[in-house]
Amino acid sequence: MTYTIDFCVISLAFLMVTVIFYLRQMKVPSRRNSFFAALLFCCVFSLVFDIVAAVIDPYAYSMPLWIVYVVNILFLGSVQLSGLLFLLYTMTLTDAYASMDKQQRRLSCIPFAFTALALLFTPLLKQNGIFYFTDGHVYQHGILHLTLYVTIAFYMFAALVVMFHHRKALSKTKLLAVISFLSTTFAAMLVQMLHPYLLVNSMANALALSLIYYVLEAPSNHVDTMTEIYNRAALPPLLQDLFDQKRRFTLFVFPLRSFRLINHAIGMRNGDSVIVDFASYLKRTYPKYYCLRLAGTVFGVLMPECEPATLESLWNMHGAMPHEFKADKLCVELDVAIVGVNSENVKDPEEFLAILENVLSLGREERLPAVLLADADIRSRMQERKALELALLRALDNDGLQVYYQPIHNCDKKLVALEALVRLYDPEYGPLPTQEAVELAEENGNIDRLGQQVLHKVCRFIQENKAEAWGLDHIGVNLSAVQCMQPGLADSNLRICAQYVTPSSLLAFEITETATGSIDMLHLHMECLCAAGFFFLLDDFGKGYANISHIAYLPFHCVKIDKALLWEAMEDESKLFLLHGVADLLQEIGLKSVCEGVETQEQLALLREYGVSMLQGYYFSKPLSPEALLAYVQAQGVRS
Ligand code: C2E
Ligand code: MG
Ligand code: MG
Repeated sequence: MTYTIDFCVISLAFLMVTVIFYLRQMKVPSRRNSFFAALLFCCVFSLVFDIVAAVIDPYAYSMPLWIVYVVNILFLGSVQLSGLLFLLYTMTLTDAYASMDKQQRRLSCIPFAFTALALLFTPLLKQNGIFYFTDGHVYQHGILHLTLYVTIAFYMFAALVVMFHHRKALSKTKLLAVISFLSTTFAAMLVQMLHPYLLVNSMANALALSLIYYVLEAPSNHVDTMTEIYNRAALPPLLQDLFDQKRRFTLFVFPLRSFRLINHAIGMRNGDSVIVDFASYLKRTYPKYYCLRLAGTVFGVLMPECEPATLESLWNMHGAMPHEFKADKLCVELDVAIVGVNSENVKDPEEFLAILENVLSLGREERLPAVLLADADIRSRMQERKALELALLRALDNDGLQVYYQPIHNCDKKLVALEALVRLYDPEYGPLPTQEAVELAEENGNIDRLGQQVLHKVCRFIQENKAEAWGLDHIGVNLSAVQCMQPGLADSNLRICAQYVTPSSLLAFEITETATGSIDMLHLHMECLCAAGFFFLLDDFGKGYANISHIAYLPFHCVKIDKALLWEAMEDESKLFLLHGVADLLQEIGLKSVCEGVETQEQLALLREYGVSMLQGYYFSKPLSPEALLAYVQAQGVRS
């Protein structure tokens, strides 16, 4: 038979390009990567021997027979091996490989072992083997030849079953890539059976494998293109590998604190350059370890076989770190925290990632200390969080939510407004800390339920007590940043208010500055609710970093100055100027203002002098239960 090797040669050239790309890239040491590398080289090997076998075929009669046997055995053996490797690779794309024990892994090798043995003994088995040569050294199929197809078909089918079984946990890209591989190789197998001279099997393998490489194994999947260090996706396989080898390690996490401020001050492009410079500092300083970009402004260095981090070693690292990093033409001082997460006493990658997740969420809130050892402390925090989470769910399910009202007065001490504040109670947990519970509800997707329950209670309270007759400027209801990102927020609030016929001029929504991040969605909600007559207050102004432009762009009725600014102003003269400036600015642009956290006569006098319109704080009253509020309102003479 005359074989057509042209397809094989072109595919080999193409596959070699893939191999070069693969060899040059940063790799994640993991099972998945080992199987992929083995598969790639096995495919190159089979293509080369396919070509060699086809080329020597016409000259076989003049060659020693053992050479022809060896070439064909190597070719067919490598094709069979690639079937097994593909199944193993597919299993590492899912959890299937990790969940199999040694025995099961060995079982999956049996079809290959059987075919490999048949191939090895084929020169002895002659017609009873997989192939043989006639007296004129002409290649012929033996009785066992079909086992080649059966074995490959078995592995393809098994891979399909694995994918199907884990389809819910797999991304569409992974599913599509594996199905493309299987359908290409299956089509080629059929063509090869019908037209053996075409030699399309190895070609199909090469093309399908290249597709897998470019879609699933290309560097952008595990390397951050901006900083050229590993990205977050590289972490789970790195951890798995270390846990599999039972190696101890420490992950040092470097959150760049207050980076938002830097981006704000020097622009995103310069901010990016600073991030790149910080990543190159890590690469320079820890060349032997895995440097990672775990999130936008959180980096990590994974150090296997190092001494477990201690607070002392973390302080040393912190001290050795430069303070300034470079953007194009300027240097920026970075506030970098270091968190050490040791692998000791952690049982698996999932637990390690859960600890890390906690560390990162602390970083997001920018409440991290400069150095932190994520050991027992973090674990007990995780347990506390879990308990709070359960208590929150129970409170939301069992009507454990109450609304308290904090009075707001003007500078003449007249009651002019109220702020509705949620209070959550669970019989098992006791009272839940408000701020933490609200933040947790934002994170675990329960803030809408919480917000709706609060609004129902406030509207019912207004209706039942005819609060519109009290002559108040507003009753403020807090809306969280996460609520403001939900497309249905305005409609749902309008529906609830309509249910209780709440006068829109009485109800105001308080939005914190962080909500102004999703400005377009927020703008839509505000337009819709303002059109219905509701007011908006900008809450916590002056906390963290203030963005004055929000006041101009969004239709706020009033601005609430954060209590921290007032308290700091009492201690620090520069903050006092700032407070004065803010109060003047709000007056000049004609916006009402409320200052939170007024606790003393001295603060009251200061704010009166600065012309702040309304005051809220313990000086007047703590948040009150509805019953206590009714008594308070009566005592103030607002309600008879
Ligand atoms: P916020 O909206 O800025 O509410 C003001 C907070 O400051 C309240 O804390 C109030 O009790 C406290 N406060 C007021 N004056 C003083 C004072 O003179 N001294 C001190 N030490 N504290 C004072 P609270 O009730 O713990 O609420 C904390 C935060 O939780 C609120 O800050 C708000 O962001 C959030 N929150 C409360 N209720 C709700 C709610 O129904 N929905 C949403 N989304 N968030 C809520
Ligand atoms: Mg508020
Ligand atoms: Mg506030």
